[in-house]
Amino acid sequence: MDIWAVCSNIECRYARILDLRKMAHYVGAHHPLVPRRGELHFSERLRCPKCRHRGSFLWANFQRPSELVINNYSFVVKELDGNKHVSTLIFARDSGTARTAFEAMVKERPKARLSLQHGARVIEENY
Ligand SMILES: [Zn+2]
Repeated sequence: MDIWAVCSNIECRYARILDLRKMAHYVGAHHPLVPRRGELHFSERLRCPKCRHRGSFLWANFQRPSELVINNYSFVVKELDGNKHVSTLIFARDSGTARTAFEAMVKERPKARLSLQHGARVIEENY
């Protein structure tokens, strides 16, 4: 099961998968997943990597791509994070759209490890 953190800033709404082991180490394994009255919850302290706003909503298995998307949008841009967790950022039907998205993301986030793929075949990587 994945836990997604979605930025609570309505102008941002950046979504990312939390590394639960890292999170447990950071907040302590006994920290409750459900917020309690009178206690600051770790989700309220989570800083958004995109807009730097504090506070995120937590969701389990948020927006899994459907079979239809996976079968018809076979060009993808994936990101590999420092924990070797791979997330798919973009689904595209054709290579041109996927390449444009890939190049835009490489420019916008030069430090991110991004991969342009067709199914399992790697077309290009920026690392
Ligand atoms: Zn944000």
